[in-house]
Amino acid sequence: MAIAIIVPGRDVSLLKQHIENHLQGAAPVWVYPDIPDPDQVLMAVVWKHPPGSLLAFPHLRVVQSLGAGVEHLLRDPQLPGQARICRIVDPDLALGMCHYTAMAVLNIHKQWWQLQEQQAQGIWAEPVPEVVPLTIGVLGMGELGVPVAKTLRSLGFEVMGYSRTAKIVEGIRVFSEGELSAAAFAKKVNTLVCVLPLTPQTEGILNREVFEAMPRGSYIINIARGGHLVDADLLAALDAGNIERAVLDVFHIEPLPTEHPFWTHPKVTLTPHIASVTNQANAAALVAENYQRAVKGQDLKFPVDPGAGY
Ligand code: NDP
Repeated sequence: MAIAIIVPGRDVSLLKQHIENHLQGAAPVWVYPDIPDPDQVLMAVVWKHPPGSLLAFPHLRVVQSLGAGVEHLLRDPQLPGQARICRIVDPDLALGMCHYTAMAVLNIHKQWWQLQEQQAQGIWAEPVPEVVPLTIGVLGMGELGVPVAKTLRSLGFEVMGYSRTAKIVEGIRVFSEGELSAAAFAKKVNTLVCVLPLTPQTEGILNREVFEAMPRGSYIINIARGGHLVDADLLAALDAGNIERAVLDVFHIEPLPTEHPFWTHPKVTLTPHIASVTNQANAAALVAENYQRAVKGQDLKFPVDPGAGY
């Protein structure tokens, strides 16, 4: 049996080499579209695969996403029904999300953008600008949201979390979706960090209702997916002053089109989907382990629930 890597437009030679090192010749690793024998493919390792391309493999048993999110897979209407979908769960990925969020939150708290502006104008501010008090709500308390929330808590901020089902996290009050609507949760905080998976239920969750529920002059940090945000609602909220600043790492269309107003909006800071990037070596170790588990008929690591969408 074989493994097919399907990651169009990216150099996957290092990933391939890492997987081969782990498997020590136990299975060939092919890179799409150069698949010599589709009948042999037991596992596909994918990121933004061409929809329908997985149907070429009649004996596919595992589809391993190269990211934590799997909406790119679940949106393929031609997903082979017999294959289990797995995703990346990796402490290094979580650490990257913690660092990014801490950076964004501390920049907001210390008014970093204002300080840079003052430097550009040669102003030595007296009195010193006050720090901005933040109460932070983390939307999504999963593998990434919990460490993000704990990191922010360890920096001394008041933090609360929001998840689909009820859960207990030490030191952080978590509200479930059944207990509070997203807008009612947003009302309790002045900074929202979105770390949700993109599902039909969470699509567009960062919208006008949420922005209007938050105290005037609040902050939005979106490190999940562009589809969580209603762009026009955010632009209106920024211009009206409900939202003071947005830090955005993810967008509906990536790369963000050059004409999009986010590029030049004075209250938007954007980054090119780099909040945290999958570590190739760690991903390869997981691919090799899940391949071996599949061959032995064992449970796979980090399977997703297609019904829940994550
Ligand atoms: P998990 O599946 O571990 O956690 C998802 C969390 O969201 C859970 O707490 C879940 O609730 C909650 N949730 C799901 N649906 C709802 C809902 N309708 N209402 C409220 N809460 C909900 O995911 P991860 O933490 O691993 O990843 C989250 C996302 O981060 C990924 O899907 C991906 O899109 C994004 N990401 C972005 C990166 C970047 O560089 N910008 C890098 C990596 C990931 P419950 O606990 O009850 O199940």
